[in-house]
Amino acid sequence: MPYPTPKHLKDLFVTDRKDSTEHELHGTVRCGCSSETFHPLYVANRVEDRGQHFLQVVEVGEQWFCRIGARCASCGREHLLFDDHFHGWNGYVCTDAQVRLIQRPPFQEWVCHKCGATTHRVALSIQGEDIDSALTEGEDTLTEADWFEAFGWITVDVTCSACGCGPTRIIDHETM
Ligand SMILES: [Zn+2]
Ligand SMILES: [Zn+2]
Repeated sequence: MPYPTPKHLKDLFVTDRKDSTEHELHGTVRCGCSSETFHPLYVANRVEDRGQHFLQVVEVGEQWFCRIGARCASCGREHLLFDDHFHGWNGYVCTDAQVRLIQRPPFQEWVCHKCGATTHRVALSIQGEDIDSALTEGEDTLTEADWFEAFGWITVDVTCSACGCGPTRIIDHETM
C-alpha cells in the first residue's frame, strides 16, 4: 500500500505504484482534461547555486511563503500543489487560522533555464510517517481519515516540454 494521496491532490495525481512505498508517494500530475503539460507556478524565491535552479521559502511583507501551483497548458485550469500554510505537518497541524487568511502573493511562472520555455511535465513526491506514528504525534489534530495530510517532506520535479531539460528539482522541502 503506497502512502495515501493528500486530499488536495486527489484529482490530479497519478501514483507510480512501482516506486511508491508505505512511507513514500511518487507520481506525476495530470489535469482533469488529461493533459500532462503545465506551466509550473510559484510563490517562492528562485535561486541558482552552482548550476542548480530551485526554489526556497520567500519573505513577503512580514510573512514567509512557499506555494507551488501548476496551470494546465491545454485547458488553462490552475491547480495548487503545495502551500506550506495549508499542507504537510506545519501547514496542516501547526498553522493558525490567521496566517491562512493572509492574501497569497501572485504566482510567478517557472521558466526553463536552458530555453526559456514555461511548459513542463511535473512529477511530485511526498514522504511521511506511518499511520501509528502520525496519530501518536498528531494527538488531538489527526485522525484515521486525515493523518497523511501531515506529511513530512515534498519534492517537485519539472521537465521542460520544449527542450527536454530536466528533471529539475524545483522544490525539496521539509514541512516540519
Ligand atoms: Zn487541463
Ligand atoms: Zn527548455
